[in-house]
Amino acid sequence: MHAEEREQHEPVRPICIVCQQPKESGIRIVTEFLCESCEAELVRTDVQDEKYPFYIRQLKRIWYQQNA
Ligand SMILES: [Zn+2]
Repeated sequence: MHAEEREQHEPVRPICIVCQQPKESGIRIVTEFLCESCEAELVRTDVQDEKYPFYIRQLKRIWYQQNA
């Protein structure tokens, strides 16, 4: 029997401001992080879409911080 060695090299993943999931790739906006899929989703989302205000609300939190 030999002990299974597990590498604990997991990089700290940033938490996406929209989906609240730890993701590897995405963009950093000031201190916040927006993952690739949410960014793509946001770009695709029509202004008329019911999800749009949600994205804007999440992103405004960043913009407000930036202007502070
Ligand atoms: Zn996300």
